[in-house]
Amino acid sequence: MSTYRELLTEATRTLARAGIPTPFLDALLILSHASGLPKEALLASYPEPVPPETRRTFESLLARRLAGEPVSYIRGLKEFYGLTFHVDRRVLVPRPDTEVLVDAALTLIRRDPAITHIHDACTGTGCILIAILTHTPRPLTASASDVSEEALDVFRENASRLLGTVPPHHRSDLLSSVPGRFHLITANPPYLTEEEVAVMKASGWPEPALALASGPDGLSHIRRLIPQALDHLVPGGYLICEHHDAQADAVAELYREAGYTHVRHLPDLAGRRRATLARRPL
Ligand code: GLN
Repeated sequence: MSTYRELLTEATRTLARAGIPTPFLDALLILSHASGLPKEALLASYPEPVPPETRRTFESLLARRLAGEPVSYIRGLKEFYGLTFHVDRRVLVPRPDTEVLVDAALTLIRRDPAITHIHDACTGTGCILIAILTHTPRPLTASASDVSEEALDVFRENASRLLGTVPPHHRSDLLSSVPGRFHLITANPPYLTEEEVAVMKASGWPEPALALASGPDGLSHIRRLIPQALDHLVPGGYLICEHHDAQADAVAELYREAGYTHVRHLPDLAGRRRATLARRPL
C-alpha cells in the first residue's frame, strides 16, 4: 500500500506529463480534498499508508483534473480575499485579479462615510459583495444581482454561510430589474469575445458561457452597463467595472462618453489595467 507522500509524487508526475501547469499544487489540493487531511499534514512527508477508499476517491478526482476540469470545481471551493467560496458549474470561479475591485471598493468606503448603499451586478458566487461586507468598517445596505437564477442559488449559499444572512438580490439583465440608487456599484460582467469563448467551450472549458461571453468584441455588456449605471447611482456615486487589459482604453472612453468623471484604471496584481473606476458627476 502506498503512503500519502508516494501517492502525491506519483500524481504530480502524471499531471506534469499531461501538461498541467501546476502539477504539485493540484495533486496536493486534490489529495487533501479526497483524504480530508490538511495540506500541511500532506506536505510534512506524511508517512501513513493511504486507505483503499481514499485512494479510489483520489484517483477518480485526479481523472477529472486530467480531463481538464479546474481544481476549484473538483474541490467545490475557491479561496478569494481570505474567504472560502462554494463554486460549481453554475458560476465563474473567482479569480485573484478580481480582488483589486474589493480593495478599491473598501478604500472608497473607508474614505467616504457617505457611502452606505452598495450593489454588486453580475454577482455570480457573490465573492465581491461578500468580501466587501466581511471587511467593511461600518454596516452597509447591500444588494446583488445576476441574470442567472442558478448563479443566485450559489450566491445565496455563499452569503448565508459566510455572512450569516442573505442580502437582497435580484434576477436581472445587468441593472434593468434592480430597484434603488447606490453610492457604489461593482461589477465583473462577462467580457470575453464570443469567439474566444467558443474556442474555450470546444476544448471542454466548464465555466458557464453566460458568465464569460459578451458579443463580438467582448464589450456588449460593459457598453450597456456603463450608461445604465448612471440611473442607479446617486450624484457623486462610483462604478467599478472589471474588464480585459486590452479593453482598458475603450472602457475609459465608454465612461467618458456616458458623462462620468474621475475615470481611473485599477491595476491588477501583475500591473495590468484590469478594472476601471469612475464617478457620476455631482
Ligand atoms: N477573467 C476571466 C477569464 O479571463 C473572464 C471573466 C469574465 O468574463 N468576467 O477567463
